[in-house]
Amino acid sequence: MNFRVVYSPRYEVDYGEHVFSTDKFRLAAEMSRSYAALIEPTEPSREDLLLVHGPDWVEKLMTGVLSPADTARLELPFSADIARAHRLAAGGTLLAARHALETGVGLHAGGGSHHAFRDHGEGYCAVNDIAFAILKLRAEGMALRAAVVDLDVHQGNGTASLFADDPDTFTFSMHQYGIYPEIRRRSSLDVELAPGIGDAAYCDKLRHGLKTVMDFKPDLVIYQAGVDVWEHDRLGGLKLTEAGILDRDRAVYETCLLNRVPVAVTLGGGYGPTPEDTARLHAATLKLFARIS
Ligand SMILES: [Zn+2]
Repeated sequence: MNFRVVYSPRYEVDYGEHVFSTDKFRLAAEMSRSYAALIEPTEPSREDLLLVHGPDWVEKLMTGVLSPADTARLELPFSADIARAHRLAAGGTLLAARHALETGVGLHAGGGSHHAFRDHGEGYCAVNDIAFAILKLRAEGMALRAAVVDLDVHQGNGTASLFADDPDTFTFSMHQYGIYPEIRRRSSLDVELAPGIGDAAYCDKLRHGLKTVMDFKPDLVIYQAGVDVWEHDRLGGLKLTEAGILDRDRAVYETCLLNRVPVAVTLGGGYGPTPEDTARLHAATLKLFARIS
């Protein structure tokens, strides 16, 4: 087992009848078992979470008790178990980032909660695991130039907001226009795409964007590999094929490899007709980064 996939069974929680099914985490992890060991993350401490989030939001993340307004904005039910799942996923992305720095590639069958802001959660994202991994590594003394490559169909508004004034972090978001989030936050580089763009045009724009990211000379890339760009996704409309998504992932992988930049993969969004569909796409991303064909 040369590879490790970070995953916790505690990511699987019950949101009731909801488009966001956490089955996909377990299924994607199970699909990775043939080539990777599954490694469980540890939860960040309260102090750790304060690296990213404000004290009031951290208190809510620790207790699992939100106001009705918080829950409405998060668009998820919340409880102690659900709060723990979101905290654990932040630990998961941190662990995948450590694996990336050790070996070049880190894989997380979870994470990518790019809509979480400093003082609130929204769009199913309570803890910004991407920002957490970067800020925790820095808090440990690492001088880290970081880049976030966010290819979820939705704009990475929370991540953009958290790093808006950080000259050492480059945020790149390529997403569909005209869908959630209504209010964009400016990333270092935003590329807005028309619905139904097609695989080839998508990958052209991606390669341009990745070149700009590499010009920043990051020490680490955190990749938000949302598969809600898929043609059968229930929320996204970019309509990439499965082959197109693999081309996308390959472009990120090859760019990082060529430039010798460690890359940590997080799953991000994905709302296919069934959890099995979504998990298959996520698992294909992880497998590609594990260089198993
Ligand atoms: Zn999304």
